[in-house]
Amino acid sequence: MSYKYSYILMNGTVIDPANQRNGVMDIAVADNKIANIAKEIDPTLARDCFDATGKFILPGIIDLHVHASAWLGGKFGHKMMALAGITTALDMSGPIDSVLDIARDYGVGLNVACLQYVRPGHTVKGTNPGKSQLMDLLQDSLKKGACGLKILGGHYPLSPEATARTIEVAYQNNAYLAFHAGSLETKSNIEGFHEATALIRDFPVHLAHINSYCRGAVRPYTVETEEAIETLKQHPNICSESYLSPVNGTSAKCALGIPESQVTMTCLEIGGFHATEQGLEEAIMSDWAQINIESGGQIILATGKKAVEWWKQHDTDTTVSFKVNPEIPKLRLASAKRDSGNFVVDCISTDGGGIPRNVTVEMGLALVKLQVLRMDDFAIKTSMNPAKILGLKHKGHLGIGADADISVLDFETQKPVFSMANGEVVMWNGFVCGRGTRIITTPAGRKCVEAKGLRSSVIDPVETPLCRRVQ
Ligand SMILES: [Zn+2]
Repeated sequence: MSYKYSYILMNGTVIDPANQRNGVMDIAVADNKIANIAKEIDPTLARDCFDATGKFILPGIIDLHVHASAWLGGKFGHKMMALAGITTALDMSGPIDSVLDIARDYGVGLNVACLQYVRPGHTVKGTNPGKSQLMDLLQDSLKKGACGLKILGGHYPLSPEATARTIEVAYQNNAYLAFHAGSLETKSNIEGFHEATALIRDFPVHLAHINSYCRGAVRPYTVETEEAIETLKQHPNICSESYLSPVNGTSAKCALGIPESQVTMTCLEIGGFHATEQGLEEAIMSDWAQINIESGGQIILATGKKAVEWWKQHDTDTTVSFKVNPEIPKLRLASAKRDSGNFVVDCISTDGGGIPRNVTVEMGLALVKLQVLRMDDFAIKTSMNPAKILGLKHKGHLGIGADADISVLDFETQKPVFSMANGEVVMWNGFVCGRGTRIITTPAGRKCVEAKGLRSSVIDPVETPLCRRVQ
């Protein structure tokens, strides 16, 4: 027997700012799409019903900054995102091959897009790659399924000239370009942020995790935060996100006794440790540096002897987190608005995935409880805006015909309780039951993605410009 609808979510409070919906309704799903939305839908028409009484039903959470590769985040990233209520994510570093392998082997039903890093010694030769080298990298990355490039300036800097060239090359090829501020001339701080906005000029660029440049490294963090807000207001071509976790995430890998990442060195100095391998070991023993270790099918933060052992067993090539994000800049960046009423920072992200800080629901709903954000704002920053930036016309809202990507949240406990992507259940009450991954790619990447045995969702970057500003 066939049913009109595969699922009905019943009696939840629907928050769908794109369609001006805010009230108790039923939502029916058929053929992976939203098929009906009304005060009451006959449950006999559905194969399955979920009671969402007392819960909020939002368009699926889209996290524009995650890590789920063998290099960063690891194989549990998908599961951890599903548990956090996320239905779509943008991997912000690649490497694309590894992101696809993990998506195929450990997928739980999410939609995932990926950017390939521009990293000296890995994807480009030196710190000053020329136009043709950058062009080759971009073409190769798009062909492999990435949507564009990520400049990892704060960690693995390029020269300012090569940074500007990368931005231009991505723009000329309709590719997505994200930028972690910093270059050979500046660090990952407010000075790096200012340099980044100058290098970006008028190009459409996604400037990553604005909160991480406002930690008080140069001036008091409240001053840095207001500087960042004013600068972003003057650069409407820049889209951005900020995250809400107290911890960051960076590489613990050392070479010749020194951490490879600039960020790691800075974090050690902030904690009063030497920026050396020895200093990092002492920081792990003293709880300042928290190593990301596998435990029970997830990644957790660990310190002390056990963490040092894990780090050494992996030849120091692990992720490490430091509690370097003060509260005030996070709150201010999450809520600041432009004169138009739109948000200064377009999205709330996690910079998580396999790094254990997927706290968008937990902390975001805390901001709603504090009346820093309204529930509509939460949906705008976690779904509607990120969908526009990534050019996903059928996501970010719950209109009829939209992809059936849904996150159901419990306001009391500040936890996601149910999620669905493309009409299939991903997570229910903390149990992850989705399978596979749908890779969001461009026409150039379709073949490679499908050859890996993954489903693809092709966006046309010419028709729906990636990374465009949210209006
Ligand atoms: Zn990141």
